[in-house]
Amino acid sequence: MTVTTESVEDFRLRARGWLADNMPRFDPDAPAAPEGDDDAMWARTRELQKMLYAGGFAGICYPVEYGGLGLTSAHQDAFTEEAMGYELPLLLNVPTFTICAPTILDMGNEQQKRDRISAAIRGDEILVQFLSEPSGGSDLAGLITRAERDGDEWILNGAKTWSTSAYAADWALCLARTDWDAPKHRGLTMFLLKVDSPGVTIRRIKQVNGSTEFCEEFFDNVVIPADCVVGEVNDGWSVASRQLFHERTAVGGGSQYSSGVGVLDTRNASLDFVELAQKTGQNHDVRVRERVGEAYAHRTVQDQLIKRIAGAVESGELPGPAMSLIRLFHAETDWLNSDIALELAGSESVVGPLGERGAADMGQHYLSRQGASLGGGSSEMSRNIISERLLQMPREYAADRDVPFKEVKRGR
Ligand SMILES: Cc1cc2nc3c(=O)[nH]c(=O)nc-3n(C[C@H](O)[C@H](O)[C@H](O)COP(=O)(O)OP(=O)(O)OC[C@H]3O[C@@H](n4cnc5c(N)ncnc54)[C@H](O)[C@@H]3O)c2cc1C
Repeated sequence: MTVTTESVEDFRLRARGWLADNMPRFDPDAPAAPEGDDDAMWARTRELQKMLYAGGFAGICYPVEYGGLGLTSAHQDAFTEEAMGYELPLLLNVPTFTICAPTILDMGNEQQKRDRISAAIRGDEILVQFLSEPSGGSDLAGLITRAERDGDEWILNGAKTWSTSAYAADWALCLARTDWDAPKHRGLTMFLLKVDSPGVTIRRIKQVNGSTEFCEEFFDNVVIPADCVVGEVNDGWSVASRQLFHERTAVGGGSQYSSGVGVLDTRNASLDFVELAQKTGQNHDVRVRERVGEAYAHRTVQDQLIKRIAGAVESGELPGPAMSLIRLFHAETDWLNSDIALELAGSESVVGPLGERGAADMGQHYLSRQGASLGGGSSEMSRNIISERLLQMPREYAADRDVPFKEVKRGR
């Protein structure tokens, strides 16, 4: 069912009724797919997305012609509020719906939009990003994975890393160098790469917290059809820039394309510091009370900041790089929450096996807390963007600017 003129309140009421009748309630103690069983988690995710699609609640802010509902972010916010507490296909939020599909929407051709966005909304396809490389992720434009033209095809060779969920994916947005005579930003092309193409080898990376969500990929003469170029050949930086904008927005918590937030999201009240202080007998300690207040104040500021910045960028009052503000604040908030949780839980947060609930989750989260200041571009890079592109401070010196990339000295 496609509704383009429904008021937010009518939509909210319809969503409330449909959710109650059709979607399973989220039970942290009895998840439908056990945490740690990746195949089951992804199968469940696809199933949930198909349920949303069948019910007419998938792709709320995506255009109707690409399978969405063509509604506003206020409709999405209403759905998000109503859907809290239900099982949702949250694994698809990042990067499929909040980063990759919006990039295709903004930069892809008509066929790419019709094929990839609608397949994702139907729950048939998962999209991921192949950007970072073993030689470094912050200097994205300095990447060395190469694609060479061969008639109607491109031949891809190189390696990518830190690709979230690549093992479960169908298609990737893959940035490669296609002109080594051009300066680094001008010789790149963005491709839509079928992840199971011959010549693609995917390996899982095991992190210190036990998670294997990240992958590394190796490309050995992978053939990509010419119609899989997104945007223009050698103008991949324009596509990547848009993708990074969506990534900062998503990681910062300001994307209209997310299908909801989970009850375990760090920004909502699930991390109950008051309860934690009570349970650990520290609720009368003045210092602990201050820290708990600090955590809640930070969370409230974050919610307000997201609304303020996302709204101002949407209305044109602030430029796109302002999304780096919420991206940075996300990392700061995540670190603060993680540190305070660990302080309060103390030895209770000794790390247990992945998936074990309770205080041990806090220990596990602490081990990977650095990730919040790296994913979606590091905190340092966010600060650079804020200073250079928002505050108009002088640009960082770059020895490789305007130099043909083949002449640029590289460490590795
Ligand atoms: C949760 C998470 C999800 C991710 N998902 C994906 C994904 O799906 N696909 C993908 O391609 N990548 C992904 N990444 C990788 C991510 O994009 C990179 O980790 C990030 O861009 C930083 O790159 P790097 O790790 O190579 O660090 P480097 O670029 O090597 O940087 C190392 C350190 O140096 C600092 N630094 C580097 N350059 C500068 C500078 N000019 N000024 C100041 N400081 C600087 C950085 O801030 C960082 O602290 C993910 C990472 C995380 C943590």
